[in-house]
Amino acid sequence: MFIKIMSAHLAGINATDVAVEVDIATFGMPSFSVVGLAEGALRESKERVRSALRNLDYNIFARPITVNLAPADIKKEGSHFDLPMAVGLLAAMQPKDFDVADTLFLGELSLDGALRGVSGVLCICSWAAELGIKRIVLPMENADEAALVPNIEIYPFDHLSAVIGFLKGELPATPYKAEQDYFERSFADYDMDFAEVKGQHTARRAAEIAAAGLHNILMMGSPGSGKTMIARRIPSILPPMSLNEALLTTKIHSIAGLLRNKGNLIKERPYISPHHTASDVAIIGGGAKAMPGHVSIATNGVLFLDEMLEFNRSVLEVLRQPMEDGVVTIARAGRTVTYPANFMLVAASNPCPCGYYGDARKRCTCAPHAVERYRARLSGPLLDRIDLQVVMTSVDVTDLENQQAGESSATIRARVMLAHAVQAERFKDLPIAFNSQMNERMLAELVLLEDAARKLAGASVAKFALSARAYNKILKLSRTIADLAGSKTVTAAHVAEALQYRMLSGG
Ligand SMILES: [Zn+2]
Repeated sequence: MFIKIMSAHLAGINATDVAVEVDIATFGMPSFSVVGLAEGALRESKERVRSALRNLDYNIFARPITVNLAPADIKKEGSHFDLPMAVGLLAAMQPKDFDVADTLFLGELSLDGALRGVSGVLCICSWAAELGIKRIVLPMENADEAALVPNIEIYPFDHLSAVIGFLKGELPATPYKAEQDYFERSFADYDMDFAEVKGQHTARRAAEIAAAGLHNILMMGSPGSGKTMIARRIPSILPPMSLNEALLTTKIHSIAGLLRNKGNLIKERPYISPHHTASDVAIIGGGAKAMPGHVSIATNGVLFLDEMLEFNRSVLEVLRQPMEDGVVTIARAGRTVTYPANFMLVAASNPCPCGYYGDARKRCTCAPHAVERYRARLSGPLLDRIDLQVVMTSVDVTDLENQQAGESSATIRARVMLAHAVQAERFKDLPIAFNSQMNERMLAELVLLEDAARKLAGASVAKFALSARAYNKILKLSRTIADLAGSKTVTAAHVAEALQYRMLSGG
């Protein structure tokens, strides 16, 4: 008897259709062959399926069995094909008893038939719901994660015997509902607030502009100048994630195995701060399972590189592609996996090896050429991709005591959200959402420069010998500054402010 069971394969965060086709011949020597699974996964999966069914006293392995995971040319991985294979074998034996129509199956089996949770469930469920598949049967452990997806019935079980009872109609069948409505919108709680940052007006302002247009930002200053303090508070001035943003971020975290509470949609924008000894693979993704790296995990949030110049040169180089494209492609064993990598880069750096170049409190002990060499690491293509560059001077402690508390994150966020709304309207028919993502053609059409602004921008190109890329960055920044001011056109004052955030690159 021949039967087909629905399942899915994951490549990156994208699911594709897999049909588990089972054929049990009536006559012939006993055999059990499986086609379409990658080699390592195959052996283990066969063993688990065989053992789980034997433990339930289903002795079906006396006949010739062929299982094909179609399309067979994609070598599929992951342990979640155990359940669809076991169900397929049973249904092929007794097709009248098992109702497997319009149902997708996924789950790993233990040798005794218990169902174990698998990763990537959120991605597969969203895809299945979009496709109009009616119901999905999966491990209990994944129930809450699956229940985040509307328009599909979730049937979670903890043992193969329970799945059998359900498919035979012996167990009551009410779809699973999560206790809480996870779609309820609210501001995430951040335990840090911009009100705690005293002084540092320029850096605070730059952080606000960066958040408003999703621009990358570099803060350069001596230890104790407050770089990290500001970086950690940037997520608190970004607007709450939309449902689609939250789903995407949660999907990536689901694949990376980072979901702490599997039933919760991630509401807080990620803040990812890798150590400067992190490897290319950790940052970009890859490894034996082609896992997403920090650039993907930070999607819709902040990737903070503290001590950016201490990172490996190769790490900084591999960052350029995702910074440009918003996606990252990992090549592995002849195939490629693409993950989203849409993050806001926040970087911090000392001004010199000892950290105190230009500091009022402490003398820099570096030789002049050492400072130069240190700064030279910044130059070039990477710095070119950083829209805002801020030099922070150290804050005098007595000065700090006299300072009033700064504006709260909520106050700043309100302005940032207005700027985001203006951009949403501007880009409503375009595939981008923020000023920083405009290409040259969009810049020409959408950034309305007043005459004086155009003159100033032109003069600065000549004076600082700016590259075309740097010039475009200035226009994008000016547009965001104008949006924060609620101005339809870009004035000379907006351009002048943008120019002061480009001082490190000098073109
Ligand atoms: Zn120094």
